[in-house]
Amino acid sequence: MTHGTSSEDWGGTSITEEGDDVDAIGARRTHGRRRGGRLATVGAAAVLLCSGQLLGGHAAQAADCPAPIRTVLDTTPATADRTVALTFDDGPLPQNTPDVLDVLRSHGVNATFFVRGDQAAAHPDLVRRIVAEGHAVGNHTWSHPDLSQVAPAARVDQIERATQTIERATQTVVDATGSQPCFFRGPFGIHRDPAIAGLAWDRGMTVVDWSLDTRDWSSPPNPSPAFQQEIIDRATSPRTAHPIVLMHDGGGYRQNTVAALDDVISYYASRGYTFTDPLGRAFPGSPGRGGTHVVQPGDTLSAIASGYSATWREIYQANRATIGPDPNVLQVGQRLTIPGAGSGGGGASPPPASGSTTHVVQPGDTLSAIASGYRATWREIYQANRATIGPDPNVLQVGQRLTIPGS
Ligand SMILES: [Zn+2]
Repeated sequence: MTHGTSSEDWGGTSITEEGDDVDAIGARRTHGRRRGGRLATVGAAAVLLCSGQLLGGHAAQAADCPAPIRTVLDTTPATADRTVALTFDDGPLPQNTPDVLDVLRSHGVNATFFVRGDQAAAHPDLVRRIVAEGHAVGNHTWSHPDLSQVAPAARVDQIERATQTIERATQTVVDATGSQPCFFRGPFGIHRDPAIAGLAWDRGMTVVDWSLDTRDWSSPPNPSPAFQQEIIDRATSPRTAHPIVLMHDGGGYRQNTVAALDDVISYYASRGYTFTDPLGRAFPGSPGRGGTHVVQPGDTLSAIASGYSATWREIYQANRATIGPDPNVLQVGQRLTIPGAGSGGGGASPPPASGSTTHVVQPGDTLSAIASGYRATWREIYQANRATIGPDPNVLQVGQRLTIPGS
């Protein structure tokens, strides 16, 4: 489907804040060697197509992102009967993003935030909260230009600065390299030219369009029940069984989006939809952890595991009969059983854990460092202590007692 080039515009409201530490981002990493070894055991795994062709060996692929789908995604792959991907662009902004996150939390669902690099630099605490609460972060360029009007070198800079900023904001809670975005969306939906989409693909990101445009960027600057209803109607138009819904938490006044979101979520939840990322993957720690995953081109066990609350080894053992002896060989379309929370299954380092335990925060502790000492992820620890940690998972108090959830 095609989109008007201005359909993702937000009416000319200019929000440009100078990133104060832009020049400190540091040397640009060559993407071929990033994340080396973190999941090295199966990092080289590739999906075997029915034809026998190998995919997934692209040098730029980051271990945590599945190989990018090399077409512009405008519907969620049908990994379940009904899936929906909620997406929010142009943030994070303090006047909207926390409210959007609160509504999502109240429903226990997750979404994908296509952040501007300059906004992420100005509000790294909000980026951390987005990631800590289990949502996906996508790259929406540094300062939201029309990339078709930008010189090739500047395009690269727009994309890479945004990724670096996202990683910098999250490296203390996730790990030393931070949370790498697996998704890219060009400002104004200008991302279909291979000269633009290819830049994202080469950096391990799937390009994500949308199938339902709420046009919430055209909001009046005040509460409007009529406009809220328009957003709801556009977000729930049943044009596809697997919609990607476009909304905005940045770019200006978005409280009409916040007010409409509750009904949008309820519409899909009441009809049995699963809220997924744009690739149809369940979010880590989402209530529906476990279930069935249909293997996509480029999938590896480690990439699949990253979308669920499971290790690649647990998934392999749960599907040992159908996968066969080589965990590197998956068939596209194959249905894998994803073990639910606490099913065990022999991960790499299973310290005994039954029931929760307590960790007293030491100087220098981070959630990821603490998690590495227990059979828990930093996100699970964050969510189990959400009331005491506060919105920024980076801020721990020495001496603070954290509940470590048991398996
Ligand atoms: Zn945008």
